[in-house]
Amino acid sequence: MPETVFTPPALVTIPVVDQQARFAVRRVFCAGRNYADHVVEMGGNINTSPPVFFAKPADALVSDDGDVPYPRATSDLHHEVELVLALGKPLRQASEEDACNAVYGLAVGVDLTRRDLQGLAKKKAAPWTAAKAFDHSAPIGPITPLSGPLGPLTGPIRLRVNGDVRQNGDLAHMLWPPAKLLAALSELFDLKAGDLVFTGTPAGVGPLQRGDMVDAKAHGTADLHFTII
Ligand code: MN
Repeated sequence: MPETVFTPPALVTIPVVDQQARFAVRRVFCAGRNYADHVVEMGGNINTSPPVFFAKPADALVSDDGDVPYPRATSDLHHEVELVLALGKPLRQASEEDACNAVYGLAVGVDLTRRDLQGLAKKKAAPWTAAKAFDHSAPIGPITPLSGPLGPLTGPIRLRVNGDVRQNGDLAHMLWPPAKLLAALSELFDLKAGDLVFTGTPAGVGPLQRGDMVDAKAHGTADLHFTII
């Protein structure tokens, strides 16, 4: 370790199911507009609005069922439940087959969004950073390792608030399924082990308030629980 002028930030890690060792996070990428029913509920058109990519800092992750503080600078915090791909190998201009071999495991996460700031950003064609990449904006559950290459995904992805189902989609309904999404992302970035990819949300996004207890699960992942404080 070189001498540094101040204490370096702690490594961001998240739990792995049935293992002592944790997953060290490098970067967090997110896809937007990846389920048709959500594109439609946001007023978009799936033919003219293909999936888009944005990013969150690794230290926006909240793991181990930690509490999520209601963020400042918004009065419209929204939940977006998403399947998360955790990479265990590098990907650069990869084929879909290579992409499937690079996925270490799966988790469920929530892409928390300051919807009011996102609306303003869209109007001004401005970046989404303030709407998406704020502190504590990415609660995530433990990673379930895959036993082989990632296959086609199907099965429920759902989010409940205080026990009421708010989002209930199917992983098979992604416009860009994981293999295609990773191949496309690897055209833009040199992906490496430790990178996480949030794969977009199905319909049913909506507001959260202080005190809300959120739980989420996708087929093949461990549960995620957190409280907005
Ligand atoms: Mn999202």
